[in-house]
Order: sequence, then structure tokens, then C-alpha cells
Amino acid sequence: MNTRRDFIQKLGLTALSLQLKPAVIWAADLHNDEKNYDGPMLRVALMGLGSYATRVAEAMAYSKKAKVAGLISGTPSKIKTWQNRYKIPDKNCYNYDNFDAIKNNPDIDAVYIITPNGLHHNQAIRVAKAGKHVICEKPMAVNAKEGQEMVDACKQAGVQLLVGYRMHFEPKTLEVIRMRNAGEFGKVLFFQGLSGFEIGDPSQWRLNKKLSGGGSMMDIGIYSVNGARYMVGEEPVWVTAQETKNNPVKFKEGVDETIQFQFGFPGGAVASCLSTYAMNNLDKFFLNGEKGFAEMQPSTGYGPIMGHTHKGELTQPHTIHQAVQMDEMAEIIFNNKKPPIPIDGNEAVKDLKLIDAVYEAVRTGKRVEVRL
Ligand code: NAD
Repeated sequence: MNTRRDFIQKLGLTALSLQLKPAVIWAADLHNDEKNYDGPMLRVALMGLGSYATRVAEAMAYSKKAKVAGLISGTPSKIKTWQNRYKIPDKNCYNYDNFDAIKNNPDIDAVYIITPNGLHHNQAIRVAKAGKHVICEKPMAVNAKEGQEMVDACKQAGVQLLVGYRMHFEPKTLEVIRMRNAGEFGKVLFFQGLSGFEIGDPSQWRLNKKLSGGGSMMDIGIYSVNGARYMVGEEPVWVTAQETKNNPVKFKEGVDETIQFQFGFPGGAVASCLSTYAMNNLDKFFLNGEKGFAEMQPSTGYGPIMGHTHKGELTQPHTIHQAVQMDEMAEIIFNNKKPPIPIDGNEAVKDLKLIDAVYEAVRTGKRVEVRL
């Protein structure tokens, strides 16, 4: 365990290491039966070397089954720095104009798209056409139509399309889902999801509709959308939503500042959620059933996730989400492993259909029926 930590620190990758606490377990420790893993390594090219790609790359040093093998960036100086850090040869480096040539590169299995949301659709389709598996950040696209086109393109190309739903492997989250499936909460009646932070620089791409696809809903509200589905364990059948905009200069037309939304589920449960770019420290899930409850806060941040149920504190260990996610993605790609909650393109299209419905409900003021 120390060896890995030393290794990371030697590389100067301190940002993530500083967060490590004794309660952290390495990705590899989740796979005790695979300590001496000698199976195939998922060789991943990272596209978009920004802040989340930095976190993913640092976390991947803890992955057993996936590694950074290539780089795609529009900034040559960034490529140089990352090449040195991750020992990536020139032949595995590309820019946004020439990355289709990755088709002829036998050193790369998958491309992980970590660029602004509005670029994912086109980039994913190009990666699929190049015959490489697509890993894409959330939101997978800016609407369900584009999401479906990505699913279709990957299917046609015979490659996998996986989305960075890191919470789908988070131990406390999975424990709540286990308890729900075991009937420990009784009939589920209510979910509350609060997702938000105060966004800074008004010139960033997250506040540019073309690049972001929207506002807080696309970026942070999607955690409550996706969370409502995996916590309740059903697919919503209707959506209502209301928008509040206090700063129309910063949050222009099509860029939502704050949206409250509600989902109705076929079993009678309702969800009430808040998505905002105007409040800090909003990261909370609450699930209520006839016999009990689960409360998690923080519920979707990088961790440690904390929470309790009517039976007591959730004590499952903290993991490095992105390291576990990459190991699990390798298992899905190489061994067709079924994740506990899907992370494929179809799962992402469901979230996008709900976000489309939230925006429609805001626009029309009407309840929108959905079928996922
Ligand atoms: P970022 O701004 O830090 O990085 C974006 C990268 O894309 C930069 O390297 C930038 O140079 C590059 N880029 C390429 N074309 C660009 C263009 N036309 N305009 C602007 N930048 C361009 O953003 P980020 O926080 O790394 O987010 C990237 C993606 O990752 C988003 O889809 C976001 O939703 C997602 N994300 C996911 C999580 C998670 O926990 N799963 C966390 C943060 C971000």
C-alpha cells in the first residue's frame, strides 16, 4: 500500500494523495481475489487535459487494470508536460484535428472524453468511427437526441460506450441500494436530492450554452437526476420543474442558475430535487420508506461520502472513485462484467431524457410525461 503511495508522491502527484485518509482503500483492495492481476490492461487515451482529466489521471495510478496510454489536446505545451509525467511516447499523442488517426494505433484501447459537454457528441462519434471504445464524461451529451446518436454510432462501430458514473461503484451508495433491495426501508415513498455549488468565473465554458448545453442541471443537477433513479430503484414517469434566476447577467438565456424539479415514480414514490449554481455545499440525498430511511451528506462528491440509515452509520470504506471506476470499466470492456448499476450509453440517455423533460416543464409550466 505504501509502495503505491510512494510511487504517486515520487511522481509529484500530491493533490490526490493529500486527500488520502487511513479509511481509504485502494481500488485493488476491492478485488482481493485478484491481488496478482495479470489480465489485460485497459490502455486509455485521455481527451481534454483539464481539471477533471487531471484528477482521473492521478487516480488511475491506483488502478490495477487501466492506465493512461495516450493524450489528446489542442495545447502542445500541455501535451509535453503530460507526456513527461505519464511517460507517453510521441506516437500516442494527438490533437483535435488528427485524433481520427488513433484508428491505426494498436497501443490504445479506449478514449476517455473529458472535454466540455457540447463537444462530447461529435468527439464520441469520431472515436467510435476510429474503432476505439468510448468512455465519456457526464453529461454524455447535451440532449437525449444527441445521446441516442452516440449510442447508435458506438453500436454500429462495435465498440462500447461507457459513462463516468463513478457513484455507481461507491460502497456506501451500494449499501443503501442493497438495503432497499432487501426491503429494509419497506416501500420507498420519497427521495430528496440537493446538488449545487456557487459557480465562479462568468467567462468559463460551463456558463456558455453552446459548450455546456445548459446550466447547473447539466453539470451538477444530473447527480440528483441519476441519484433519484438509483436510490428509488424505478424509472420516473412524470416530471415537473420550476426555475429561479436571480442573476440574468451571469446566467444568460438557456443557462439555468437554479431549478427545482420533481419526479413521479410508478410505485407511487415522488422525488423532490434542487439543482443550483448559486449555493455552496449542497450535496445531500435523503431516501424515505415505510420502514426506514437513508441520509447521505456529502452524497456525490469525491468523498469521503458520509451517511446513516435508521439502522445506524454507514461504515463502508472510502474509495478513490475514479480508480475503482476505471478498474470496473476494464472488467466491463474485457470480460463483459455487469456493473451493479448500468454505466452505458443507454443509462445516460435516460438521464438526458429526464433533463430534456425538466427543461420542457420549466418552459411550459406543465407536467411532462416521460417513458424511459
Ligand atoms: P475543464 O475546463 O477543467 O477542462 C476541459 C478541457 O477541455 C480543457 O483541457 C480544455 O482545454 C479542453 N477543451 C477542448 N476544447 C475546448 C473548448 N472548445 N472550450 C473549452 N475547453 C476546451 O473542465 P472539467 O471540469 O475537466 O470538465 C470536463 C468534463 O468532465 C465535463 O463534461 C464535466 O461535466 C466532466 N466532469 C465530471 C466530473 C465527475 O465527477 N464525473 C467532475 C468534473 C467534471
